[in-house]
Amino acid sequence: MHSIEINLPTPVEEFVFQDTKYFIKRDDLTHPFFSGNKARKLYYLFDKDLSNYKKIISHGSSQSNAMLSISYLAKYKELNFDYYTSHVNDFLKQNPHGNYKYSLENGMKIYEKSLPTKFDEDELFVPEGGYIIDAKIGIKILADEILKWCEENKKVVDIFLPSGTGTTALFLQKNLPSLKVYTTSCVGGSEYLKKEFFGLCEDYTQHPTILKASKKYHFAKLYPECFEIWQELKLSGIEFDLLYDPIGWITLKENKTIFNHEILYIHQGGLLGNESMLPRYERKYLN
Ligand SMILES: *Cc1c(COP(=O)(O)O)cnc(C)c1O
Repeated sequence: MHSIEINLPTPVEEFVFQDTKYFIKRDDLTHPFFSGNKARKLYYLFDKDLSNYKKIISHGSSQSNAMLSISYLAKYKELNFDYYTSHVNDFLKQNPHGNYKYSLENGMKIYEKSLPTKFDEDELFVPEGGYIIDAKIGIKILADEILKWCEENKKVVDIFLPSGTGTTALFLQKNLPSLKVYTTSCVGGSEYLKKEFFGLCEDYTQHPTILKASKKYHFAKLYPECFEIWQELKLSGIEFDLLYDPIGWITLKENKTIFNHEILYIHQGGLLGNESMLPRYERKYLN
């Protein structure tokens, strides 16, 4: 069995953006294929003896960041990886790129069908996006790194991160009762995100605080203001992901006055996913 070298703890960097100072927790630097919050959420598998299993099974979109991290984990645990998705478009099949390409290179088998309803004993199922209670194990390590940094630097911060399933934000808040965790919903509305929180933790007093952007964004659609803020962030020195982070930063800007402390923004990785999002943006808004 191989082991994956991941770089922990990840650094915290100062970042000045539009004349405001932020701290960025660089979880994008864990490992290129095992990156960001997916590395944290899947840590429970990374750390575990999986030799009783033959295969990992998961499902979701054909460019998912979770898919890439699971494919890498499967490769290094010497397990097969079957991934179920509703559809892979013809362009992607003919020109593999981004997470899809790297996941295939890591040995993933992709099926355009619905997920099997039953699994064998030697098949390990990972829910879409790593929405699972066990994700708390890796996110606790992230929370402990943040606490240690706060202590060493004598800081009290407000934490901000954009959410998909909300798993990362939820377990961060649960593990950091002395700090406030703020998030925004990027894939559904606030009601969807609240439901996701309740699915993992019934005690709503431990849920993160949900902020809203003034406009409703549809997941994975292209918006000029998202591309603009992404470019500006990059020019300021850090590349962020193109699906979640632009909505995160827009929400942060619009809600600036509600924070009581300096902000620690969690960079949740996903940069290889930009290989598919960036050409879409460039075709639409450049030239
Ligand atoms: C998966 C992902 C998210 C969403 O994480 P959740 O734990 O599902 O809320 C946010 N940002 C990036 C870059 C991601 O890859």
